[in-house]
Amino acid sequence: MKIIVLKFGGTSVGTLKKITKVAKIITTYVKKKYRVIVVSSAMSGVTNELLSKTKKISQNFPNDEKDVILSTGEQISCALIAGKLIELGFKSRSWLGWQLPIVTKGNYSSSRIVKIQKSKIINYLKKGGIPIITGFQGINSDYRITTLERGGSDTSAILCAKFFKAEKCIIYTDVEGVYTTDPNLTKSAKKINKISYEEMLEMSSLGAKVMQPTSIQEARLNRIEIDVRSTFSKKPGTTITKKKNILSKNNIRGISFTKNDAKLTLIGVKDRPGVAASIFKPLYENSINVDMVVQNISADSRETDLTFTIKLEDLLKTRKLLENNKLIKFKKLIINKDVSKVSIIGVGMVTTPGVTYRMFRALAKKRINIEVISTSEIKISVLINKKNLKKSVEILHQEFKLNNNL
Ligand code: ASP
Ligand code: MG
Repeated sequence: MKIIVLKFGGTSVGTLKKITKVAKIITTYVKKKYRVIVVSSAMSGVTNELLSKTKKISQNFPNDEKDVILSTGEQISCALIAGKLIELGFKSRSWLGWQLPIVTKGNYSSSRIVKIQKSKIINYLKKGGIPIITGFQGINSDYRITTLERGGSDTSAILCAKFFKAEKCIIYTDVEGVYTTDPNLTKSAKKINKISYEEMLEMSSLGAKVMQPTSIQEARLNRIEIDVRSTFSKKPGTTITKKKNILSKNNIRGISFTKNDAKLTLIGVKDRPGVAASIFKPLYENSINVDMVVQNISADSRETDLTFTIKLEDLLKTRKLLENNKLIKFKKLIINKDVSKVSIIGVGMVTTPGVTYRMFRALAKKRINIEVISTSEIKISVLINKKNLKKSVEILHQEFKLNNNL
């Protein structure tokens, strides 16, 4: 059986007209003799609306009940797609996560899929049916409905491709593929033909919103090739694949950025062992993710300054935790909300000397100050003033010749 998984995102099924378009796309694969498995997200905005209801009725709405509500978004879109396909003369039906079942483990609202029971879907495919499976949801060992992290229908699709041994997984979305940087920020952004899992994982973790990072991690582990393309255009999209298949000579493939970081600096912290741990332990215990960290070496080895970044949404909580932390003393806390993190990404960086220097030189030429730096094997991130974001991305795009990045 030549199986293909097609996943449609919220904007692709955002209106009835768009769902009609989606149904037509599905039929083109049936005509090409594929056995098609469809995974759909909820109509755009629906999950957020449902979430806001839970927040309005209770300040601490329980996660297990939240999952029951949030999972209904996908129920609607899937039934609509199936209904349209039937009208077009095809055999189709919707399948909710628990009906297969899609088995999950872990906490409510951030569960992981551990198994997808295949038999019902395989039988249905053999009879010529087109199953429309709800993304983002499953059922746990207590027979309760669970959801994955937000944006999790990407992961549902990739794991369907894994369990059903699909030849291909195509992610249909509202953009034409993965771009060298966000086309909404700069016109110089170019569509990338092929990108490695590793690069895509960094890009999506660092701010590119095309796909959810966990889904890329699953695709990488299971070696599932993904095509990302637009529901609204015939143009070829981007293939996410193994490093080996990438022929690009560019060592930098993309630039990501975030706009929702905050930088905190603790001035005059005692410079002795255990202090950094005392600062970060309560943050960790409160699930606050610390991103970039720098500690200046103190001239007199008595006091030092410590700078780190967090998500803006965690700022209030972090501030309270720092100010109420009896284990640490500092002279002053400085907070800066006008920061952006810009990252250059590319697997080629590992073997190419001078990339860091070129990045810093390009920014310096435009008199852009770098506030914090962090690096990994395949990315370099700098924190800059938000007002320089567009300029920085454009200058780096030019410096690393991303216009030719295919
Ligand atoms: N509907 C879910 C959400 O909005 C899942 C998804 O879109 O992938 O997060
Ligand atoms: Mg999505």
